[in-house]
Amino acid sequence: MPKPLDARALAALAANPGCRRRALLDGAGIDKSVLATALGSPSGFGQSQFAFVRGNAFEARVKADGGAELLRLVYERVGGGPEAVPGAVATPDLAAVGPEGRAARTALALKEASEAGGWALLDHPMLALDVAGSVAFLEPDAVVVHPDGHWTVIEIKSFPMIDGSADAAKVGAAARQAAVYALALERVAERVAEQAAGTPAAPLATPPPPPLPRVRHRVLLVCPKDFSNLPTASVVDVRKQLSVTRRQLARLTRIEDIAAALPPGTTFDPERPAEELTAAVESVPAAYAPECLAACELAFHCRARAREEGAVTLLGRSVRGELGELTTVAGVLAAACEASGDRDELAELDDPTVHALRRAAVLRAEALGAEALGEVAGVCR
Ligand code: SF4
Repeated sequence: MPKPLDARALAALAANPGCRRRALLDGAGIDKSVLATALGSPSGFGQSQFAFVRGNAFEARVKADGGAELLRLVYERVGGGPEAVPGAVATPDLAAVGPEGRAARTALALKEASEAGGWALLDHPMLALDVAGSVAFLEPDAVVVHPDGHWTVIEIKSFPMIDGSADAAKVGAAARQAAVYALALERVAERVAEQAAGTPAAPLATPPPPPLPRVRHRVLLVCPKDFSNLPTASVVDVRKQLSVTRRQLARLTRIEDIAAALPPGTTFDPERPAEELTAAVESVPAAYAPECLAACELAFHCRARAREEGAVTLLGRSVRGELGELTTVAGVLAAACEASGDRDELAELDDPTVHALRRAAVLRAEALGAEALGEVAGVCR
């Protein structure tokens, strides 16, 4: 059963758009946790069963009574209309067959709720987003339609918000995830606007049309308050994450193009022998960075390969960016060491990276004295 792309995976893809390996495996719906285990480098990823159950219980509590408490938090933190009256909030039925059906039902419900001009709570709507030539179906915790026609993404998390603030890394991950939802929601808003533009003009006597929907770029993050199970909320501005995600997803190579470059007969079936599987995975170029450790199930495998190759990507993206054509630590050391005692050679170099490395090596050796010169020369041998 293929594993569908979700917002967490898309946010991670957007954070590393140069990794064709992840793009292909995610696009093909391959479970990377299972694959990593079959490769002999199991990931430490995944939510514990306890955390999963606790998260579901908290979300159910937040949405209880027709979402009365959630709507109160939305009104209090975001506004967008008069206070929601319990019982007067629309909660459309989004049930349909298959993800395509649910996405179409969600789009219709959003349009109708915006035209109605009141509050509406869409519980687990389904949004479709085109990613590198494939459609990803995404399911935010909730989307609220405000009486003023705006739409807000609601992200419900079970990590605590203590004295009004939560763990910055967790909030950052939630913001990146919410930005993916906001991006998908914008596509729905665009289609609603296109349909409205294609509608013939109404006679003058009819009431003015409702405002066109706009997706708020400030999402509502709902978490347990302090050490209790009571919900509290904070508005998170995701404009930056949204523009990064939009730009990075547009840069992704099409899955078909990556697949076309694979050797014939390549398979990622975890039942295959580890050697065959390793060869298949290695046939797709990766772009390892230390950030992968917090974002991708294959991180231990890719890190081991990068270590074997002595790749400079192990040192982080900023260092990698500084080193230009030099891709291995051995290459960098060789470039730095060759000129440790030869100042004249510096002037003849074309590559500014090598020039900078050699100059740095010379300066370091001069600053630290003869012992360091010997140390640098020793690396070169
Ligand atoms: S761990 Fe490997 S497959 Fe995953 S994003 Fe990093 S380089 Fe790509």
